[in-house]
Amino acid sequence: MDKKMTIWQGDITTLKVDAIVNAANKSLLGGGGVDGAIHQAAGPELLQATKKLGGAKTGEAKITKGFKLPARYVIHTVGPIYKNGLNNEAQLLAKCYKNSLALAQKHHLKTIAFSAISTGVYGYPLDEATEICVSTVKKILPEMKNVEEVIFVVFDEPTKEVYENTFEQLGI
Ligand code: ADP
Repeated sequence: MDKKMTIWQGDITTLKVDAIVNAANKSLLGGGGVDGAIHQAAGPELLQATKKLGGAKTGEAKITKGFKLPARYVIHTVGPIYKNGLNNEAQLLAKCYKNSLALAQKHHLKTIAFSAISTGVYGYPLDEATEICVSTVKKILPEMKNVEEVIFVVFDEPTKEVYENTFEQLGI
């Protein structure tokens, strides 16, 4: 079966997919941005579940149920805080996508929606982050036999344009 990569603009908490990927912080206990929106929409049971995970390192990914969300699961991954690009930020950001997809594969999930990890408060330059994100997923998706569709969720118009340009450059 052909695998699909698509761009979708809107609020990730509204998506009825197998898993949405949260841009979490190391505590995994919620925060601002997309993390706050996901905890808000999933309800307090999500916090109860993430409390049991014992946090995560940058680049790691951990999974919980989606609780009140339309999504069945939430994959929580911790993006790098961008300093100057000389602190392994690119490798760590790629690890977020790789580890999230590996978890989806392990749990037999077919449809995964990613938020744009590290591009908000964590300050990763959008062009670079998007190139890493899309090229990493494109490269490893064929190995993830269970995963059929990856949706890149963009919250605003400028981000959507960057993703569209990146798709074009990478021949998607
Ligand atoms: P980080 O701390 O990893 O930078 P942020 O939550 O600050 O994470 O931002 C990550 C991306 O998520 C940004 O592109 C931001 O615009 C986007 N975002 C914020 N809220 C939502 C939402 N409800 N749905 C989808 N994307 C969102």
